[in-house]
Amino acid sequence: MLNMVTRLLRAKPNTTCGDCAAREKYTLLNAAVDTLRGEYATDAVREERMAVCKSCEYLALGSNCKLCGCFVHLKTRYAAASCDINRW
Ligand code: SF4
Repeated sequence: MLNMVTRLLRAKPNTTCGDCAAREKYTLLNAAVDTLRGEYATDAVREERMAVCKSCEYLALGSNCKLCGCFVHLKTRYAAASCDINRW
């Protein structure tokens, strides 16, 4: 069941729009599945990502990304997550 859910979440959207189709969004559902599977980034990777976010103009109130709406201290924890504008 978990494998099926993971496959569905990672399926490419059925669209011809180049930019959206090329970029795979990391969603709350992805985070839920990765939590169940224990797929976390290492501490070093997390710290590196947080350093990038802390110097980013899109970070609001020290914790919230204005582009994706995520709390970056949570998003950076997941190995498969990525910045929406490819900064990490
Ligand atoms: S996830 Fe990307 S865009 Fe958002 S605050 Fe971090 S570096 Fe900036």
